[in-house]
Amino acid sequence: MKTMKKTARFLTALLLALTLTAAELAPALAVTQSDIDALKNDAADLTSQRKELESKLSALKDDKSQAMEKKKLLDEKIANTAAQIKNVEAQIADYTALITQTEAELLDAQQREEAQYELFCSRVRAMEERGTISYWSVLFKAESFTDLLGRLDIINEIMDADQAVIDQLQALQAEIEEKKASLEASKAESEAAKADLMVKKSELDSQRREANALIQSLTANENETEAAIDGLEEEEAAIQAMIIKKSKELAAQQAAQNGNQTPSNAALGGYIWPVSSHYITSTFGGRASPGGIGSTNHKGIDIGRVGYTTEIHAAKAGTVIVSQYSSSYGNYVVVSHGSGNTTLYAHMSSRKVSAGDYVNQGDVLGITGSTGNSTGPHLHFEISENGVRINPLTYLTGYTLAG
Ligand SMILES: [Zn+2]
Repeated sequence: MKTMKKTARFLTALLLALTLTAAELAPALAVTQSDIDALKNDAADLTSQRKELESKLSALKDDKSQAMEKKKLLDEKIANTAAQIKNVEAQIADYTALITQTEAELLDAQQREEAQYELFCSRVRAMEERGTISYWSVLFKAESFTDLLGRLDIINEIMDADQAVIDQLQALQAEIEEKKASLEASKAESEAAKADLMVKKSELDSQRREANALIQSLTANENETEAAIDGLEEEEAAIQAMIIKKSKELAAQQAAQNGNQTPSNAALGGYIWPVSSHYITSTFGGRASPGGIGSTNHKGIDIGRVGYTTEIHAAKAGTVIVSQYSSSYGNYVVVSHGSGNTTLYAHMSSRKVSAGDYVNQGDVLGITGSTGNSTGPHLHFEISENGVRINPLTYLTGYTLAG
């Protein structure tokens, strides 16, 4: 009888061990549905922003006097679509991780189910072999009342162990069904997100074409656009005055912090190319027929062959004094390298720095684009020395001129 009791205890212990192993096997969740829900909330915010932009756009008159205002809204709409694409891409990545996790969990549950079923079968087989399939026979062999009570305990343990095996088996089957269902749901959601991504990417392309065409159409009739050009030139001049003022103020402030010493401005020069492309589509100075409605007296250089995803690097270390949007420059950043020595980077699709940030030479300031007065993706780059804009190509070498 002692052997039976031992067997029952062994089985109970085995079951306990199996339960513990199962708990340990469950992998820590790296991605949860709530992560995806948070992304979906962000997506809803972006959609309402987009609707607001669309109603503002449709309220604008379809004439050239409001073209720059329209371009500004289109630039915002493009940034919104780009943010939506980023959001959907993050959702897809989360779904992919969730699917991988669920598949691993499902495999684990299936393996546990298999082990549990084998255990159940071996229990039944053992009982059949020992002829103890009928618990009553154990009881009939009792020699005394104390012996009978002892035997009842054994039977309870055996019955409990059997029931626990069966219960676990059923729980595992339910777990497997649930995992299979959630796996199917995640796969369907992921497919829907991928289809959505395709739609949004083509929307982004057509929005960019629309924005570039809007600026291009302004050149069609010089007379009509004269007012717009004047406005932009005034804006650029005001910006340049503001830049020089800020740069000088910053240099004075820094000198004061350094203990009233004479402002020790960094030496002039020492710039690196702000983008990997060295292809110049428009040089510094006068140009007979400018692309777009840009100033006929070009105050910087245009670097082409950059697309909408190229990183823009600080040409020289310094402090960011401007990071904002303007009708002429679109998203632009200005870095001050000393009193009156600044570099300007324009038409970015996105800015990665804020005013006040210190940047090292080569740090990423933003991503190239075609915001503001621009007819296609390029970087408009300016260098000011002693408060005056100079030709950047006197410093930057190894370029190719567009022919
Ligand atoms: Zn330019």
